[in-house]
Amino acid sequence: MAGQKFFPYAFFENKFVKFEIAKVSIATNALQYGTAVFGGIRGYYNAKQKYLSIFRISDHYKRFLSSLKILGVSIKYSQKKLEEITVELVKKNKPKTDVYFRPFAYAGSLNLSPNLNRDKNFSFALYMIPLGDYLPTTKGLRVKISSFRRITDNSIPSRAKISGAYINSALARKEADDLGFDEAIFLTEDGHVAEGSAENLFIVRDETLITSPESDDILEGITRRTVLKLAQDVGIKTQVRRIDRSELYVADEMFFCGTGVQIAWISEVDGRKVGNGKRGKITAKLQDLYFKVVKGEVEKYKSWCTIVKI
Ligand code: PMP
Repeated sequence: MAGQKFFPYAFFENKFVKFEIAKVSIATNALQYGTAVFGGIRGYYNAKQKYLSIFRISDHYKRFLSSLKILGVSIKYSQKKLEEITVELVKKNKPKTDVYFRPFAYAGSLNLSPNLNRDKNFSFALYMIPLGDYLPTTKGLRVKISSFRRITDNSIPSRAKISGAYINSALARKEADDLGFDEAIFLTEDGHVAEGSAENLFIVRDETLITSPESDDILEGITRRTVLKLAQDVGIKTQVRRIDRSELYVADEMFFCGTGVQIAWISEVDGRKVGNGKRGKITAKLQDLYFKVVKGEVEKYKSWCTIVKI
């Protein structure tokens, strides 16, 4: 990416190396066919106390390994080892900003054609970038329901974070962008609300926080789970159930959530104002709490944070 910054060290081919030398051949299967799995984990830097808070690292690596299991392939590292490699990479890179980790498991084979049996031993790489807000979190987003439908579980399973599947996201994002919107919302093949191109979605109706079920072709987001738990803990009613398209038009509040996007509220969908077009009070409550929790500032949720002194 033009202008993208990277931290100096990466983990590649079993060792820590300078980021610049972590390179693969153009014949790599993962590059040609999208036969790879990735993750996205955030670390929040506390400048005063000089630590990085890595949020829900175990849950991220658990999903990462589940994605590989869905493909029927594996890497040679255990979940515990992946966590250790990540902490060690932080110590090498010594970040002084918020960071994003990109674990990547890929078919490194140079043979022609994708073959998950021949190439069942995937390679693993990890690198880090500095990352602030991915979408604005302080202004309301203008979103559009995509004309591209979400991939179904029996085509490319959404609960796995498979690289090739992100063509679906890229098409929806491009369409939204071409039409002047900030982001897209996918419907499932049968017309129910699924999620954003790289975010899960919540709506609020009559003081109840609602999100689509895992069976509606969404990624099983870790932020989604976090939001549900925080909401329940502060006494907000929650529902996990199918959402109709037209419910988006009458929702009182709406927001995206995800590791990258964090919590970003939506002010307009398909040209219709969400509620009064301002950040809603349930959204505000959850957003404010979320930003404290991920930084390791709330005792009750500290077990979600891996604190690395820098
Ligand atoms: N849906 C999709 C399609 C995504 O790419 C992401 C980002 N990983 C999410 C939802 C949010 O998942 P998480 O909260 O685990 O980052």
